[in-house]
Amino acid sequence: MAVFKDERKLSPEYVPERLPFRERELGQLIHYFSSVVRDEKPFHARVVITGAVGTGKTSLAKLFGMTAEKEGRKNGYNVKYVHINCRKQGTAYAVLAKISEELCIGLPKRGFSIAEMLAAVVKSLNATGTRVILCLDEVEALISKEGAQPLYSLTRAMEDEAGENMVSLIVVLRDPEFLKRFDPSTASSLGNTVIHLEEYGFDQLLEILRYRAGEAFKEGVVSDEVLEFISQIASDRRDARYAIELLWRSGKLAELDGSGSITAEHVRKAAASVYPTIRRENLSYLRTDERLILLASARALKGGKAAISSEDLYNHYKVVSEEMGFEPFSYTNFWEKLQWLQDLGFLRLSIQTDRKGRKTYVYLPGIPATLLETEILRSFGREQDVRRRTVV
Ligand code: ADP
Ligand code: MG
Repeated sequence: MAVFKDERKLSPEYVPERLPFRERELGQLIHYFSSVVRDEKPFHARVVITGAVGTGKTSLAKLFGMTAEKEGRKNGYNVKYVHINCRKQGTAYAVLAKISEELCIGLPKRGFSIAEMLAAVVKSLNATGTRVILCLDEVEALISKEGAQPLYSLTRAMEDEAGENMVSLIVVLRDPEFLKRFDPSTASSLGNTVIHLEEYGFDQLLEILRYRAGEAFKEGVVSDEVLEFISQIASDRRDARYAIELLWRSGKLAELDGSGSITAEHVRKAAASVYPTIRRENLSYLRTDERLILLASARALKGGKAAISSEDLYNHYKVVSEEMGFEPFSYTNFWEKLQWLQDLGFLRLSIQTDRKGRKTYVYLPGIPATLLETEILRSFGREQDVRRRTVV
């Protein structure tokens, strides 16, 4: 039985026409970039968007991009929004190649230096009078691979080469703390304007799900009770992406069942399939450094604490690395791996604000810390450590 009216409306790539609870932030972006779409001699803005996974960063940037292109057209300017995911385009070179591809600027694939490619891109923009709003999404991935230097060169060269200054910039990253790790010149080249997206709570997730379910499902397929149940599960992670994935999977399971509506049991099955608990065979796919980070997390949290700050965890990680005989990674690298472990469902990161500022906290969802410790030590062939520690 068909439950979906339009399944694509729940796909990760789809950008909804409006983003409830992000109207203010959308307004801010429109405000900051107003000159680009309106003025004859545009002033080019630079804005940083931060926020944890599933707070709507990517959607907000893309929705703004569409709005800006439309607004520019209305005013007779050729405004082009280019969205680059740095996780996919992991090097400055790949980023530039992607930009030229998006802008239909023909460049030979090889034999061009970064500076030459950049010059060619800017020249073409000037010739065609194209105003670009470039969005570099998940920029941590680029930085963890190549350091901040390529990003710095990219933004600086845009300033120098552009003359007419044709390129505006939106940089998207998760942790506002990350900015502090740049040297001041790189940080300032990214702009001083930061829009931080707070994580969604239960009520907000519920409202978002109501809206998205209305677009995707036929009438009567999802009850409000089911949406509340999904919001409840997802509000633990405060993550709209997870909520929407649960909604979509629940729909698929209902369809598979030949059921005309989604039940709580479909939701429970969906939740079990999205984040499988840590099983031995899953751990064996992880790399050494990733297992060391999990071991550090398990050790740090087994005393009963719910969460640990990423800085404190880094110190635990260094100790654990030394104990196991491995060279620890830099903090930037460590941080990127935390994100990866979150993407895999092993860790949960949450950005929290207190008197001293914002901090990232690391949680272990899904498995007791002691069990995780045992499993990881076993994967390193160190069962005897487990026994020794239990005796002590
Ligand atoms: P992020 O880039 O911060 O990880 P995304 O922009 O990818 O988050 O959003 C995750 C999912 O949640 C997407 O499917 C997006 O459409 C949806 N979403 C996020 N915020 C909202 C909102 N305010 N209203 C409707 N859908 C939202
Ligand atoms: Mg994103």
